[in-house]
Amino acid sequence: MREMIPMGKKFSFKKKMLIVLGTVFFITAAVLGSIKLYRIHLRDQSGILLAFDDYNEGTWRQAMELFDKYDVNVTFFINAYEPTDFCYDAIERGHEIAFHGAVHENMTDLSEQEVYDIAISPIEVFKENGIELTTFAYPGGAHNDALDEMLLPHYNILRGAWYKEIHPKCDLRHGFIEAMPIDNYYYPTQESFETAIDSVLNEVSQTKGVVVCLYSHSVDDGGDWCIAWDKLEYLLKKAQEMNLQFYTFKELEEN
Ligand SMILES: [Zn+2]
Repeated sequence: MREMIPMGKKFSFKKKMLIVLGTVFFITAAVLGSIKLYRIHLRDQSGILLAFDDYNEGTWRQAMELFDKYDVNVTFFINAYEPTDFCYDAIERGHEIAFHGAVHENMTDLSEQEVYDIAISPIEVFKENGIELTTFAYPGGAHNDALDEMLLPHYNILRGAWYKEIHPKCDLRHGFIEAMPIDNYYYPTQESFETAIDSVLNEVSQTKGVVVCLYSHSVDDGGDWCIAWDKLEYLLKKAQEMNLQFYTFKELEEN
């Protein structure tokens, strides 16, 4: 009988180990399965790149609260020679600072040296001050093949300003992409804006893993080259309802 007890203990230990190993196996399988499903979900998630061009610090700062309310990150394409306080504040809140030229010039009118001075040499200045510029939006959307060739060794993405184009997210790693303007100028009434946004968001939500870039300049109820507050909130709310994600350009470059 004295020998039976250790035998029983030994058996019970083995059994316990098997149960533990089995449990570990199933938990690992479940975790790995969930990670895989989550990765597929992330890959298939479609969304919007929302951008604001030029330099409108006042209203951009006012809009931060609205972006937070809907948990939205946007990209500010700024005109500046060097980083401003706004750049650091925006980055800290999860937004991206991208570039629109040290000054706002039609790049197709410039010499190579001028393009270099306005669009390329500031990259280093920003970098020395802790900000990496990886996307460039052409002022007025004006570009040609020679400009793309000159700028692409320095930027991952070059952005236009004229059309709605729906891109697979992998297109956002390198090259040129178009962007659709959503300024008051193009959609003077709330109704015309909502109709256009509904149509774009429906199109995006019907395809897996795609994005569209929408951009404005300032946020203001009056004026042509800005988006009215109600319109901006409509866009953020509608995208949330349709389960569309807002991305910055950098997020997709690294995707
Ligand atoms: Zn501009």
